[in-house]
Amino acid sequence: PIRPREELDAVDSVCPYCGVGCALTYYVDRERGAISFAEGRDQPGSQSRLCVKGRYGWDYSASPQRLTVPLIRVDSAYPKGPLSADVRGDGHGGTRNDRGRVNGGERSGGGRKPGDKRGGKRKPGGLVDYDEVMPHFREATWDEALDLVASRLGEIHALRGSEAIAGFGSAKCSNEEAYLFQKLIRTGFGTNNVDHCTRLCHASSVAALFEGVGSGAVSTTYGDVANADCVIITGSNPTANHPVASSFFKQARRRGTKVIYVDPRASTVAEHADIFVQLKPGTDVAFYNSVMHEVIRLGLIDRDFIANRTSNYDELARTVADYPPERAAQITGVDADTIREVARTWGEAGSAVVYWGMGISQHTTGTDNARCLIALCSITGNVGRPGTGLHPLRGQNNVQGASDAGLIPMFYPDYQGVDRDATQRRFEQAWGTPLNPNRGLTVTEIIGSVLKPDGVRGMYMLGENPFLSDPNINKVRKALSSLDFLVVQDIFLTETAEFADVILPATSYLEKDGTYTNTDRRVQLGRKVMDAPGQARPDWQIVQDIARRVGLDWDYGAPGEVFDEMVALMPSYRNLRYDNLGLSGKLYPNDDPEHSDGTIVMFDEKFNTDDGLAHLVPAQWLPPKELPDAEYPLVLNTGRLLEHWHTGSMTRRSFALDAISPVAEVYMHPKDAADRGLAHGEMVRARSRRGAIELQVRISHREQLGNCFIPFHFREAAANLLTIDEIDPYGKIPEFKFCAIQVEPLGVR
Ligand code: SF4
Repeated sequence: PIRPREELDAVDSVCPYCGVGCALTYYVDRERGAISFAEGRDQPGSQSRLCVKGRYGWDYSASPQRLTVPLIRVDSAYPKGPLSADVRGDGHGGTRNDRGRVNGGERSGGGRKPGDKRGGKRKPGGLVDYDEVMPHFREATWDEALDLVASRLGEIHALRGSEAIAGFGSAKCSNEEAYLFQKLIRTGFGTNNVDHCTRLCHASSVAALFEGVGSGAVSTTYGDVANADCVIITGSNPTANHPVASSFFKQARRRGTKVIYVDPRASTVAEHADIFVQLKPGTDVAFYNSVMHEVIRLGLIDRDFIANRTSNYDELARTVADYPPERAAQITGVDADTIREVARTWGEAGSAVVYWGMGISQHTTGTDNARCLIALCSITGNVGRPGTGLHPLRGQNNVQGASDAGLIPMFYPDYQGVDRDATQRRFEQAWGTPLNPNRGLTVTEIIGSVLKPDGVRGMYMLGENPFLSDPNINKVRKALSSLDFLVVQDIFLTETAEFADVILPATSYLEKDGTYTNTDRRVQLGRKVMDAPGQARPDWQIVQDIARRVGLDWDYGAPGEVFDEMVALMPSYRNLRYDNLGLSGKLYPNDDPEHSDGTIVMFDEKFNTDDGLAHLVPAQWLPPKELPDAEYPLVLNTGRLLEHWHTGSMTRRSFALDAISPVAEVYMHPKDAADRGLAHGEMVRARSRRGAIELQVRISHREQLGNCFIPFHFREAAANLLTIDEIDPYGKIPEFKFCAIQVEPLGVR
């Protein structure tokens, strides 16, 4: 029976999906042991709003596919050993290798077969085949599994040194779990080889922000758009990826804020924009340099701000002088008058703010793209006042917090450089052990290192799924399946866990307490809603048990103890305590959490750089690394859908979300499809130099001619079999937003 609300337990928590971090309440039927429904909760940021993922995307935690007991591999040859043609990356995906491992190109019945234009029985979820994989593991006790993890990682550490160990943490975990994980890798194994998925989303934005304004966090909130005369939303599809933030953007426009939307795709935000700029992908630097060129030519700069609050303006001005609108028009495909209109609209606004997404950051020029946005805001005095500022819309619900907590190879918590003597001494004193002064390897560098004889040999993977999320996954699979030892800690048998030596069953966010920091710098409490299934345990407890087994003297009794230790080492989080976050959380920095929600607008007097100035860093436009040609004539852009989340391990097990969006599709311009004789819904093969996948065509007027979009959630048509692993030299982020592909009917070889 459906019980009335009064008979249900109400538990206040936060949404586990995007960086907006909406506050919500779960209503739990304790007799059924299940959540009945979720509702938005009032909090200054999200104001009781939820999107479809927050409202309906929680039932995955009750999936019968949850991992409930530790598992140890019994067949050391599986899935290691000789790799199939597909995994070698010879461009012929869609096969199952000789060891029975499911590869990305294989369709799990996800749709239609050649010649079967509308049929095909879909295997639910397109997920890892448990029946196939489970016989290669046996159940173990926690003690046995943890002993094995500690001894194998310890052996590799002893035999091959600190640099042979690496850890991938997760932005899905709480701040406390991120903090403990990086502390374990740094103090237990003596290496800074610890990173997480920020390397795949906004690492380049953080690099540019850190260099430009001395902080990797946003300078204002998404709600501050209400105070802006003008907003640029760029490289982002917030309606799909940050839906509640998007609702604030639309609301602001209704109240008079001018919305400029700059993106290669005509997402629904374009329908709510005053000016929509559909530039060619990979041309952001040329576009923003040209906008700055015009702002300067029209005299719309803020001379006082430039003189008193910035450095290096002259060099910036010289660089952008080479980008008159006529030249930029040839590079970007945007007509010169539109560039002039954007410059005038932005420059004449009394207050203007920019929100950006991964269309800016996920390029080999991602840091340069973000540098241009920082410069545009700075030369027009649009930082440090209400309705102005810089806001990279963070992806995961805790990617801000995981970065803040030090899950980054070059920084201890709060972006304190591992290679700075004074910082190192402070952390050595706090943690009671000598620390490695060398920067560690990033996610993308670790993959390359594994392929070298003296590289990383043992890995601890907490909640990440690089076998689906990383670029050029044939290379990733080849690398990580050759590790001497891989331990995966997760809630499901992910594509990566399939390759593990030991699998540790963790709790979902619904089954534990902890703090999460959203894109606005709001630190919020997530509360336990349900008991964990079987023997699954909170990540922080598992990490602590491994730490103890490698000789660390840890004795944390609850997440609050970890939070308070972490905050003592993080000046930005000063004054926050586990017990003063309250129901709405608090923004950091916060001088008086008992009475204040925290700081909305940063940098009102000075920036966080050593000299207190904004550093303007000019950038020259460079083309993407792999341009289309006769064999691969289309540009591939990858990203997310409203209903799904990253590698789909959660949302594809959520009934409502998977029912709305069950099938992998390639979005194509009508003419591109027609030129290839493709009909809407037809199965096709998309291939690049690195691999191939089979999926359905969606005819989409939102794509530009010559451009395609494929979401990366679908294992059975893994977009990252196609993507290129070229990286930005500063942020080390891959170029997920641009590579060359071909799309053809399935009959073509
Ligand atoms: Fe969750 Fe983001 Fe949707 Fe809010 S906007 S409900 S945080 S997915």
